[in-house]
Amino acid sequence: MKKISIIIPTYNEEEVIKISYLRVKKVLEELDSYDYEIIFIDDGSKDKTLNILNEIAKENRKVKVISFARNFGHQAAVTAGIKYITGDAIVIIDADLQDPPELIPEMIQLWEQGNEVIYGKRKTRKGESAFKLLSAKMFYKTLNALSDVEIPKDTGDFRLVDRKVVEIINQMPEHNKFLRGLFSWVGFKQYAYEYERKERVAGKTKYPFKKMWKLATDGIISFSTKPLKLVGGLGIITIIISILILIYSLISYVFKLNDLTPGWTSIMVAITLFSGVQLLSIWIISEYISRIYDETRNRPQYIIDKTINI
Ligand code: UDP
Ligand code: MG
Repeated sequence: MKKISIIIPTYNEEEVIKISYLRVKKVLEELDSYDYEIIFIDDGSKDKTLNILNEIAKENRKVKVISFARNFGHQAAVTAGIKYITGDAIVIIDADLQDPPELIPEMIQLWEQGNEVIYGKRKTRKGESAFKLLSAKMFYKTLNALSDVEIPKDTGDFRLVDRKVVEIINQMPEHNKFLRGLFSWVGFKQYAYEYERKERVAGKTKYPFKKMWKLATDGIISFSTKPLKLVGGLGIITIIISILILIYSLISYVFKLNDLTPGWTSIMVAITLFSGVQLLSIWIISEYISRIYDETRNRPQYIIDKTINI
């Protein structure tokens, strides 16, 4: 019998976790011809999430729990979860039921038809702030403009993936994995599965701006080196501008075009312009360096405290 592994990252989800579990379980138990396992990764919750998960795991042996030593972030949680799967197909789904588990049977059918990555593509997004929608849109625009791989827009991590593909991702030594990019980058038979993203059933988003920014920069930097080349482009442009300023100052000096304190304007322009460009360039380079540093240090992306039923 084929087995479906469900990966659910949770961070402070005490309000929804039980409801989510029951809904996912109901869907899976109605699929008589498939076995299942549900792997919860508790990403260092500070509320009762882990206690609730413990209880669930006690009554259902098919539920496995991995709990992190602290909050390592959503991508780290999913990366850990897919290391422990024993199923033939893996479904990654959020704990807040924004991605309806009732769609899983249809995704399984698409998988049985030979598709290897069935990624959820959001037709509509309910209950999300205008800021979130705008920032997401800008992010995918920037990412696709910069990156060499096509990363489908309006997708999250909700997807069904064949075990074969998951194993390839698991073998990659990269630490800060930008999963939705990698799942697209590997190729195989991809299928865009359109669905309506619902509102969160309860609780608030666990993705404040800081975490979104980290996800966005990880995504761009791990899939593109164009920002570094941009630094080169900026350098050339500023050299041209500085030559123009030089010519202008020489001409005004020779022909005595103005009677300002000589040199003041051009020096001010040059200093502000060039220091701005330099700071910008250094910032872009340092974003890369900090990630190279992260990778070479070889520090794990997460630390597991306890596991249950594994
Ligand atoms: N999550 C996590 N660690 C974090 C933040 C979020 O494991 O640091 C989980 C969260 O519990 C949820 C999923 O990641 O299952 C997506 O988070 P959320 O629904 O808050 O994000 P949004 O849908 O608002 O983008
Ligand atoms: Mg959500």
